[in-house]
Amino acid sequence: MNKLRLGLSMAALALLAGCTTAPVARDEAHGQTMAIVGVTVVNPERDGADAAMADATVIVSGNRIRAVGPRASTAVPAGATRIDGKGRWLIPGLIDGHVHFFQSGNLYTRPDGADFNAVMPYAQEVARNKARLPATFKVWLASGVTSVIDIGGPFWNFDMRDIAAKTQAAPRVEVAGPLISMVDRVKLDLGDPPIIKIESPQAARALVARELERKPDFIKVWFIHQAGDDMTKQEAIVKAAGDAAHAAHLRLAVHATELDVAKASLRAGADYLVHSVFEEPIDAEFIALMKQNHALLCPTLFVRNGYAYALSNRWQATPEEQRLADPQILAAMHDLDTMPKAKIPPRVAKLIADKPPINAPTVSEQNLKKLWDAGIPVVMGTDAGNIGTLHGPSVFREMALMRDAGLTPLQVLRSATTNGARAMGRDDLGAIAPGKLADMVLLDADPLADVANLSHATQVIKDGTVYEPKALIDSIH
Ligand SMILES: [Zn+2]
Repeated sequence: MNKLRLGLSMAALALLAGCTTAPVARDEAHGQTMAIVGVTVVNPERDGADAAMADATVIVSGNRIRAVGPRASTAVPAGATRIDGKGRWLIPGLIDGHVHFFQSGNLYTRPDGADFNAVMPYAQEVARNKARLPATFKVWLASGVTSVIDIGGPFWNFDMRDIAAKTQAAPRVEVAGPLISMVDRVKLDLGDPPIIKIESPQAARALVARELERKPDFIKVWFIHQAGDDMTKQEAIVKAAGDAAHAAHLRLAVHATELDVAKASLRAGADYLVHSVFEEPIDAEFIALMKQNHALLCPTLFVRNGYAYALSNRWQATPEEQRLADPQILAAMHDLDTMPKAKIPPRVAKLIADKPPINAPTVSEQNLKKLWDAGIPVVMGTDAGNIGTLHGPSVFREMALMRDAGLTPLQVLRSATTNGARAMGRDDLGAIAPGKLADMVLLDADPLADVANLSHATQVIKDGTVYEPKALIDSIH
């Protein structure tokens, strides 16, 4: 993991530099000490009885965890702020390994898939998404998500990362820039397109070079293979992007949702597959290629159903979404109820009329279980921002589907913490241990008994600052 490029903002570098040494300047500047007393500490990287330590005390100084131990033998420093952990569980902050801040989750956010420009000009939607970043950051924290990977968007994604780093109530953010794509998406091009069609290895290298100027955390390829496309030629483009990424000590993330395309991606050097293979069972060759690359995989089980529900006007907020999503987005999710018929795109009108069945993602769930059992590191991620997949509480939809796939609550939590930190290439996140950054979630129900309990946060701690989910949401009304 050391070969991987770590978080790149100056703040992140400063924090990392302090990781192996005694107190860092930043901590002293914070100056505050906090003790969570009598809590059950969950260690998602451990198995069996070791995964939970009951009646523990956790000491946080500034933005770092200083001590974790039995309450009886862990002294609370004088003057420390005490949080009563009795009857509560403390987990590492959740990490979503696949989000997009250039998309809002509402109907207007992907005109290439459903063109609502007649109702909401796309330029207005993008301007809204930029202006709304502080609220979007808050909904992530409110859901207990203290880090996210934005795995592709316009060049302004890099500005978004800077804004997040400067905003206290925001998750840590890693980013990829524009997607190196096999296809055009002209309706998304307002001058800074999130998706750029690349037709040669040389063009791929040139785009990677442009992105490197902005210090991305990943290079991302959108590997769309359509009937008649030359797979060998496409694989060469992906390999060129991958080689250029690796030469810069960056990892190659690839969208590849068919088995042959996913295999081609891995042959071309993919380090992170940002979706499952959706419709075909994976096989031994695929697992061998994943292992050969030490690749990670983010299944994104819910996102396709998000589109299906929203575009047929059957999307309903879960209780967690009602409580924790951006109220402005929630209000817009039922716009089809009142939209003039003439303005509804024909494809959407047909979906509303036909109401095609929306099935559980059975094959990708089976693939997830196979991958987990084969020892492939699986990363929880939602693809939030796509239509019907809302920033923040969509993690609870995703984790419920991972449970349905047969993962235990501990395995789901590991995918959302330990493995999320691996995806970010960081060893100072994803665990509750001395020296780690103080990103944690306090729950009033046992997350190892039921993944649904992960939505029971009473407090969310990011970088040593304590937030209450309800207060975060109330502050953005
Ligand atoms: Zn995505």
